[in-house]
Amino acid sequence: MHINIPRGTQDILPGTVEKWQYIEGKIKQLCDRYQYSEIRTPIFEHTELFLRSVGDTTDIVTKEMYTFEDRGKRSLTLRPEGTAAVVRSFVENKMHGYASQPIKLFYLGQMFRYERPQAGRFRQFVQFGVEAIGSKDPAIDAEVIALAYSVYQTMGLSKLKVVVNSLGDKESRQAHREALIAHFKPSIGEFCHDCQTRLEKNPMRILDCKKDHEHPLMKSAPSILEYLNEESKAYFEKVQKYLTALNIPFVVDSNLVRGLDYYNHTAFEIMSEAEGFGAITTLCGGGRYNGLTEELGGPEAPGIGFAMSLERLLSALEAEKIELPIEKKVDCYLVSLGEEAKDYTVGLVNELRQAGFSAERDYLDRKVKAQFKAADRLHAKYVAVLGENELQNNKINLKQLETGEQKEIPLTELVSALKDFGSF
Ligand code: ATP
Ligand code: MG
Repeated sequence: MHINIPRGTQDILPGTVEKWQYIEGKIKQLCDRYQYSEIRTPIFEHTELFLRSVGDTTDIVTKEMYTFEDRGKRSLTLRPEGTAAVVRSFVENKMHGYASQPIKLFYLGQMFRYERPQAGRFRQFVQFGVEAIGSKDPAIDAEVIALAYSVYQTMGLSKLKVVVNSLGDKESRQAHREALIAHFKPSIGEFCHDCQTRLEKNPMRILDCKKDHEHPLMKSAPSILEYLNEESKAYFEKVQKYLTALNIPFVVDSNLVRGLDYYNHTAFEIMSEAEGFGAITTLCGGGRYNGLTEELGGPEAPGIGFAMSLERLLSALEAEKIELPIEKKVDCYLVSLGEEAKDYTVGLVNELRQAGFSAERDYLDRKVKAQFKAADRLHAKYVAVLGENELQNNKINLKQLETGEQKEIPLTELVSALKDFGSF
């Protein structure tokens, strides 16, 4: 019987997995520089968590969740995004009481959404995201955007576009909401079913509709920026001022609203403008979510964060034809000749590994030439050759592949000789 991989998922095989490891390593380094600590939350959560936080008019909640009932008849959902769980954990672990504030966290892990699979859209994908909770200093908005931007910059991407907007506070949004309803209501019949539902529930989300985005009423829709009250306006101006101070080029787009319900004030996206990146140009999205901790039963603690998928980051690297500097080498390959020598390498390869070297030997009874080929394929730095003669004399032949330099050394000194060669 032939069983295929589920739609919208992928195997990440050796040869590719090194890219992922490289990116993950860089991300962790950057998070350390920006002082964000890792948090790991469960892969599944109570369904209720996402209904309450992500919002019941969003694509995620209305059609993309992997929801199931467990044997105890609880409704659980494979996490479709990271913010809800991080905020749940913040509240549950009373992090607002921690001495060091604000709480700055990052996560890196699989997310699950029942989507129509296509380039840049998977059903299981890996998101890197951060959340800074406990501050409403616009400097932290700028810091979060800078961190996202620096991930792409560190990888060597240059065709980037940073788009920012403000969704204002409750008061501003209320005024904008009424203007949007008045704008769309007379012609709502020309919009998709989803938009018709959004009109009363959350009219701002009409602006984020993927089906109707070409409708002329979209372009002429009232801009949130005209409805910002003084406080929201001042906040947004500060964020822009700090972005400029951080040398981050950005544009303001008042139609940027983002998919999730919980955003207010700052919203942003980073897009790739690389040719051939495909129809989906968004690499990363984020924003401020003051009020979400209270919604989840916690104290007031304003937050901001973003999420990006590594799949889209990899596509952008491909579109810009960027090769990551990945070096995969084995320190020493043991070539043996004859049964006794072969037996001896069982212990020897182990000795090398215990001493901290990566080491490999033959397991297919290959001829010497084929063993050398195997060493080459693994990009071995050194090959140590052990024949019957060498074994009898307690010697081994050590060869540096790149230079061709070789020397015969006492068998007991292989580890120290490798260390002495200097390049380790
Ligand atoms: P889109 O408009 O592309 O559907 P979204 O608004 O659903 O994005 P978010 O929920 O904000 O996206 O997720 C943040 C980031 O996660 C996206 O910018 C993208 O990098 C990534 N992402 C979202 N959905 C997927 C997916 N199905 N496959 C791969 N990456 C994804
Ligand atoms: Mg989506």
